[in-house]
Amino acid sequence: MGVRLKIPKNHVRAASLMVRERLIEGEEKNVVAKSGLIAHGRGEAFDYLIGEETTPAALFATRAAAAALLLASRPVISVNGNAAALVPGEMVRLSDSVPAPLEVNLFYRSRDRELAVKEALVAAGAKQVLGVGRAASARIPELFSERRKVDPRGIHSADVVLVPLEDGDRTMALKRMGKFVIAIDLNPLSRTAQTADITIVDNIIRALPNLVSAVNELKCQDRSALRGMLESFVNRKNLSSMLIHIRNRLSRLAEEQ
Ligand code: ATP
Repeated sequence: MGVRLKIPKNHVRAASLMVRERLIEGEEKNVVAKSGLIAHGRGEAFDYLIGEETTPAALFATRAAAAALLLASRPVISVNGNAAALVPGEMVRLSDSVPAPLEVNLFYRSRDRELAVKEALVAAGAKQVLGVGRAASARIPELFSERRKVDPRGIHSADVVLVPLEDGDRTMALKRMGKFVIAIDLNPLSRTAQTADITIVDNIIRALPNLVSAVNELKCQDRSALRGMLESFVNRKNLSSMLIHIRNRLSRLAEEQ
């Protein structure tokens, strides 16, 4: 175990430092891969540009994502190491609310890591976790990383898949399999963001609680109202709004210098 950092509560970047600590702890427990720490850095950089807050465009995408999950016949929530370390409780709450099973899906897959991620979800209240060990017996075609392993009861037979923090190759492979893909990604320019059907450009730390609230709020709506919400959402337009938000924010900041 590394030396734990004591973060003063009034430190200007306390929240962000605490998130980093959670990831470091996750890495020590084998939940987070070393590359997951680097991926978080890329996300942080975009969050800095966005202003570390949920934008109206991100909230619009979150509500469309909630509608898609509620309308799905077989929705599945894919969980990687960073998501399990940062928002395990919200993952479980979302899974219960939709309802949709949780499936472990790791780029750097090993038996130990699968079990560590499962354990983090079970500790947060999950009753069932798919995609562990022999259960991940199906394969995503044309994908060569360990991420191609999927559970036949989960992602393999899903119609809608939520992929928080996904890599572009796998998102494209899921699309080729005919899945409706919902991604959470702070980088509006990543291949994942550009390929998904709905991209929530927000930090997973803020997006997941918002998604749980949206699902709980929209649950009582009839299917035609949910369909209407989904039809009014256009991912390209939403990504464009996020880029315009960043551009305008940077212009404002530049003028204030
Ligand atoms: P792609 O393969 O889709 O083009 P990439 O190579 O950047 O993108 P990875 O490095 O596999 O993808 O995944 C990291 C992605 O996750 C980055 O796009 C980063 O912005 C995003 N990310 C990291 N941490 C968070 C977070 N806390 N919340 C939301 N997104 C995050």
